[in-house]
Amino acid sequence: MDRIYLDNAATTPVDKRVLEAMLPYYSDVFGNPSSLYSYGQEAKKAIEEAREKVAKALGADSDEIYFTSGGSESDNWALKGVAYALKDKGNHIITTEIEHHAVLNTCRYLEKEGFKVTYLPVDEYGLVKPEDLKKAITDKTILVSIMFANNEIGTIEPIEELVKIAHEKNVYFHTDAVQAVGNVPIDVKKLDVDLLSLSAHKIYGPKGVGALYIKKGVKIHSLIQGGTQERNRRAGTENVPGIVGLGEAMELITKNLDSHINKLTFLRDKLINGILEKIPYARLNGHPTKRLPGNVNVSFEFIDGESLILNLDMAGICASSGSACTSGSLEPSHVLLAIGLPRELARGSLRLTIGKENTEEDIDKVLEVLPQIIKRLRSISQIV
Ligand SMILES: *Cc1c(COP(=O)(O)O)cnc(C)c1O
Repeated sequence: MDRIYLDNAATTPVDKRVLEAMLPYYSDVFGNPSSLYSYGQEAKKAIEEAREKVAKALGADSDEIYFTSGGSESDNWALKGVAYALKDKGNHIITTEIEHHAVLNTCRYLEKEGFKVTYLPVDEYGLVKPEDLKKAITDKTILVSIMFANNEIGTIEPIEELVKIAHEKNVYFHTDAVQAVGNVPIDVKKLDVDLLSLSAHKIYGPKGVGALYIKKGVKIHSLIQGGTQERNRRAGTENVPGIVGLGEAMELITKNLDSHINKLTFLRDKLINGILEKIPYARLNGHPTKRLPGNVNVSFEFIDGESLILNLDMAGICASSGSACTSGSLEPSHVLLAIGLPRELARGSLRLTIGKENTEEDIDKVLEVLPQIIKRLRSISQIV
């Protein structure tokens, strides 16, 4: 049975061209980039080339790109780094209720360290209201961190407008763009963000590598102390193959961004419309148009998300549910609760995230199989 992978928001398969670009740095060019002999210098050159590719894809300068171990580290660095660097100026941070745990739990940690955090609510679509941000800023606010696009419901936030509000009050703005990069055109200069996190494995690159964009002049402490790598700001011998992979992945995804977006949007809307047409008691979560091109998130009444995922798996379809089941808990997702979904409905949620390898046949197959599974599960539980 062919597997249909529809969990591209969790991770993506590594593009073969990305893998090819990485391989030499595991074998022939294994030198330490800090070494002065040619082996080391070749590795160093590869890192700088990757840095230029990432910078170019974001409209940044190369010396504003810092490589990290992934989205989580970039988020941790942005928040803790700015908090500690500006603690004499203020102790207030603003974020939202729907952030990824890499931001949310870093904020919880900073609260224990004495910082105050405001968690902005969102509307029924998952959108932050600019007025709410305006009202929340005080003279103690040092950082606003709002995600570019939500990983669960796909909602794309009005980042440009939110940045303007923060900057009117001279407050730094960080955005977790892990889901947006490669799915939405991004120009950091136009957006005017101060910090931006991204991760390779969400854009057909390898796991365990990412980057933080830090605008020139932004005050930030280091997260990892040690050697002088990354211009003295992020110690540790560089993940050379990973960094090369990230550079390649960024270049590939931005080169074909328009057609990628068009293809995914077409498949997404076909899937959403098909589900809503064929399955009774179903609702779409997130905004109908201000959403990531590959994101489908739906809730089904009288359905348990876990059973749904297992049944889809048996039919060869990889999907994700609306609960934090990965951590072994059955708590419904904080994002679905934040958009006002009742707990029962949040539990019966399904996230299907389309990637560049998916075809229209994959979508047709889901539209054939999913209604049958829902019908069967509902008849077993005999609630409908
Ligand atoms: C995946 C993800 C992260 C974490 O990135 P890792 O590279 O897996 O650490 C952070 N934020 C968002 C929105 C994500 O989707």
